[in-house]
Amino acid sequence: MATMQNDSEPVDPRIDLVGMDRDDLKGVTDALGEPAYRSRQLYQWIYQRGVTDFAEMHNLSKATRAKLDETYRIGRPAVGTAQQSVDGTRKWLLGFADGNLAETVFIPEEPRGTLCVSSQVGCTLTCSFCHTGTQRLVRNLEASEIVGQIMLARDALDAWPAAAVNRPLTNIVMMGMGEPLYNFENVKKALSIVIDDEGLAMSRRRVTLSTSGIVPEIRRCGREIGCMLAISLHAVHDELRDELVPINRKYKIAELMDACRDYSTLSNARRITFEYVMLKGVNDSLAEARELVRLMSDIPSKVNLIPFNPWPGSVYECSSNNAIDRFASLLRDAGCVATVRSPRGQDIMAACGQLKSASVRQRRSAAAE
Ligand code: SAH
Ligand code: SF4
Repeated sequence: MATMQNDSEPVDPRIDLVGMDRDDLKGVTDALGEPAYRSRQLYQWIYQRGVTDFAEMHNLSKATRAKLDETYRIGRPAVGTAQQSVDGTRKWLLGFADGNLAETVFIPEEPRGTLCVSSQVGCTLTCSFCHTGTQRLVRNLEASEIVGQIMLARDALDAWPAAAVNRPLTNIVMMGMGEPLYNFENVKKALSIVIDDEGLAMSRRRVTLSTSGIVPEIRRCGREIGCMLAISLHAVHDELRDELVPINRKYKIAELMDACRDYSTLSNARRITFEYVMLKGVNDSLAEARELVRLMSDIPSKVNLIPFNPWPGSVYECSSNNAIDRFASLLRDAGCVATVRSPRGQDIMAACGQLKSASVRQRRSAAAE
């Protein structure tokens, strides 16, 4: 397990190339007086091959490699702890240069392997059932820190080169900590590298951004990012959604549904996923299932029911298996595609909504020492 940089380790002053897109790298090679095609070679070495040492870039001259090495580095987020669940789920707690921490989770589900990526340290929204929402400390992650999570997972999974077949990492979900649409520019830049064939080479159809429903940014996401979309709906009436997902006070369900309708018509491959956390006695009645069917009726979509994952201090309980089955059956009988997410990595607090950066916990314990 790598350790985070501590005070005794000298900080590498060189500029990190990870997170730079094609244009940024062109700026780098221009500044070094190198021809334009060098930036493309550099881009491929970094994102397709996962190389972290300029010495390995054998189609670059020794002199170019030396110039690069002087000013630049190809970094990875430092890993504080790496945990593995009994079910194979892996979680990395990452430490960034400013001491902030965020989490990345890998969920192997043959034949798929999904990486759940964080977009912020904490989250400014305060959904009442979500552990991340209780974290006060919030900052946007840089594009380098977002792409870095995926590159680090590829290192750990031995999943280079990016475009290889049979690779263990097939899907990316922006469902870790944070609201990705509140960090639009950095998420957009990171995902542009993720879905670039000469970059991390993931299929756009296998990259899903999950949002609590920031309506104007959903429209922008459709135009400018073009990945798959998941909406954290969780309630079918405004009154309850105002309470569970407080951003609903600003963007109501009807408005959200309009944005989803528009998003899905941008491309007919764009089936939207509605996520619905199952909270006992709160949102799990059959009347609510019926209303969900009605809301989705003219939107190409599917529902993913998420059994509530408890966390210390949470006030909700998960619906019974029976209630979840009945809810799912009603949806399916009405012709909807409905899946129930199996909770993964609960023993290492890696399940949906359980991520809360240990920055807060660690700081507290450091203060207590
Ligand atoms: N902020 C974004 C993405 C991160 S949350 C969003 O809200 O969509 C990823 C998913 O986990 C969301 O659907 C969220 O509502 C759900 N979630 C949060 N807390 C949960 C919990 N305790 N149990 C189950 N799912 C939860
Ligand atoms: Fe933030 Fe999403 Fe958690 Fe809501 S569910 S607090 S938007 S991370």
